[in-house]
Amino acid sequence: MRKRVVILGVAIDDVLMDEAIAAVARFIDEGGPHQIVTVNPEFVMEARRNRAFRRVLAAADLATPDGFGIILAARWRGTPLRGRVTGIDLTERIAAEAARRGWSLFLLGAAPGVAERAAAALQRANPGLRIAGCYAGSPRPSDEPLIRERILAARPDVLLVAYGHPAQDLWIARNQPLLRVPVAIGVGGTFDELAGVVPRAPALMQRLGLKWLYRLIVQPWRWRRIMTAAPLFLWTVLREGRAFDALHAE
Ligand code: UDP
Repeated sequence: MRKRVVILGVAIDDVLMDEAIAAVARFIDEGGPHQIVTVNPEFVMEARRNRAFRRVLAAADLATPDGFGIILAARWRGTPLRGRVTGIDLTERIAAEAARRGWSLFLLGAAPGVAERAAAALQRANPGLRIAGCYAGSPRPSDEPLIRERILAARPDVLLVAYGHPAQDLWIARNQPLLRVPVAIGVGGTFDELAGVVPRAPALMQRLGLKWLYRLIVQPWRWRRIMTAAPLFLWTVLREGRAFDALHAE
């Protein structure tokens, strides 16, 4: 049974990392396509205006809580989540399990050469890790047939897609049924961080839920997105939560 928490209409699984990995193992054993989404505040805000994305999130086999904002919002709503499972942490744990259990990974997305560097970093940390393939490609529909051919030939157990949300998650929903890949995950900027293209936030800032502040410092041009991700999201949760409570108190 999935225990899920709904935030502004988006359902999120109350999973810890070990449980997420157990789900990945189960999906691989079962075969058939399974999609994992890592839901952060920007996902929730996008889902409010993008019906196709909303549907993909609702249909996902696992929706992990990604980001401190999600944890805070769940607590405010009186339905706390036990912890975070971010895209990059999930990728690193999957790589470790893959090296142990013989799963192979395919890294799709990011700028040319970045997926290869991210794969090399994962292999350095996890000797014996099998990389089935790396390809930048693009989320353009015209590129889909060629990308599918490459993935079909490589036959990975886990497909990691880094096209940013919502493109990556919509890409997976459209293409995974044609791919014979048991697990596909949209991982956003994970390859950039693994490859060192974007510096990774210090562990202490991550623990304190200040990754958004770190990103504001290192990528100030993304201020609008970052403000959407943190303050605007939390403000919306507060406002709509009150409206919801008032409605139900009447
Ligand atoms: N990206 C890409 N092709 C595109 C758009 C984005 O490969 O057409 C990659 C980009 O290089 C980066 C990732 O997708 O590696 C998006 O990272 P971001 O941190 O913006 O992800 P988000 O937070 O939007 O999910």
